[in-house]
Amino acid sequence: MGSETGNYDIVIAGGGMIGTSLALALAPLGLRVAIVEAIARREDQQPSFDDRSTGLSRSTQCMFEAMGLWDDVVAAATPIASVHVSDKGRFGFSHISAKEQSVEALGYVVINRVLGEVLQSNLLAAKNVDVYCPARIESTELGPEQVFATLKSDDGEQTLMCKLLVAADGTNSAVREMMGISAQQRGYGQRAVIGNLLPEKALEHRAFERFTPQGPLAILPVADDRAGFVWTVAEHDADRVMALDDDEFLTELQEEFGYRLGKFSRVGTRASYPLVLSKAVRLTATRSVLIGNSAHGLHPVSAQGFNLGMRDVAALCDCIADATEKGSDPGDARLLERYAEWRRADQKKLVHFTDNLVRLFGSSRPGLRTLRNIGMIGFDLVPGVRPMFARHTMGLAGELPRLSRGVPIR
Ligand SMILES: Cc1cc2nc3c(=O)[nH]c(=O)nc-3n(C[C@H](O)[C@H](O)[C@H](O)COP(=O)(O)OP(=O)(O)OC[C@H]3O[C@@H](n4cnc5c(N)ncnc54)[C@H](O)[C@@H]3O)c2cc1C
Repeated sequence: MGSETGNYDIVIAGGGMIGTSLALALAPLGLRVAIVEAIARREDQQPSFDDRSTGLSRSTQCMFEAMGLWDDVVAAATPIASVHVSDKGRFGFSHISAKEQSVEALGYVVINRVLGEVLQSNLLAAKNVDVYCPARIESTELGPEQVFATLKSDDGEQTLMCKLLVAADGTNSAVREMMGISAQQRGYGQRAVIGNLLPEKALEHRAFERFTPQGPLAILPVADDRAGFVWTVAEHDADRVMALDDDEFLTELQEEFGYRLGKFSRVGTRASYPLVLSKAVRLTATRSVLIGNSAHGLHPVSAQGFNLGMRDVAALCDCIADATEKGSDPGDARLLERYAEWRRADQKKLVHFTDNLVRLFGSSRPGLRTLRNIGMIGFDLVPGVRPMFARHTMGLAGELPRLSRGVPIR
């Protein structure tokens, strides 16, 4: 191992959307925190703070409010007043509005890169958080009293000592493997193509989710009257779609979406992401814990991956705040057990809900097509179903930790 240069309460592996949010959420507790991120944020290939647009749920909003960040986030975000759900080639649609849910917005859309700027500037101002970036965790040693995490950077190797190691290093988490935890992963045979465009008619804070035979297509309101899109295409067709010139691309996208927003033009840079369902078989090991995509990677159809990860952050913070107040250290086994128990149901529900949505709406099997017609109708007509769906996707169901209720951690 290299030289030991740091002694921390908590080391967070991965400074993406979730790891950075955790570091900021922990800051008021006065613990010594280190965050280790492999790729500099300003790099084009930064995988978390990229050009995707993310829908922030109500519970994520509450968290940012409790963390004192919401004013900065909302200044860069666009509110969603309604979501219009439709099925290509079928009559009927469903419509959920903020008004019927008695909330000011169903959620907010923010570009990851812009959210990254807000989080990063606040992180630099946090006194008790050290940032190691670019630096990659290469190996760990999980002991009963402490954890050693060795990281590699341009300056060579160094080893950090801590009481708790948090893996926030994404779906293909290497730290999860170092913790001896496997993940069940299944590819969807699809890729999400993302970017933004200019619709002829303004979105006026409406979001659209359209289920097509290839997969779901989401159109989201973003700044400057533009629309962010997340278009799911079959893996075998993805290279062809990515290689289309802008006009051809817009023609195909318009064919899938229709003309509800008039003609599409001026598409921006596109990027694509392979879609995988990933579930870690457990959430903790000795003095270590998984959060965010290292614990669960979802299909973006439900726009819930980040929001679910934020609820991991909120629950972990609650457990750490309670335990440290009673004099325990943040890697205490009972604290980790409490976290794992707390998060199990929410994670399981969201993983199943999202996976079922992809299967139900992505299948052309006659039985499922009928079910999905009934599903669309039932969704609208069965009393209570729609509000319940809305509450889940807003992240307001179940027992909520302090931050998810908008209550500061300390
Ligand atoms: C197309 C698309 C659209 C989406 N839309 C939504 C949405 O609308 N709403 C929503 O809630 N979610 C959405 N998601 C999901 C959301 O983007 C993810 O859940 C979220 O980014 C996960 O964040 P994370 O920090 O856990 O992981 P990541 O974003 O993968 O970040 C992991 C970080 O760890 C770093 N890292 C990796 N290995 C190491 C190492 N060994 N040492 C140090 N650092 C390391 C990486 O460089 C990276 O910065 C979407 C996903 C996709 C693909």
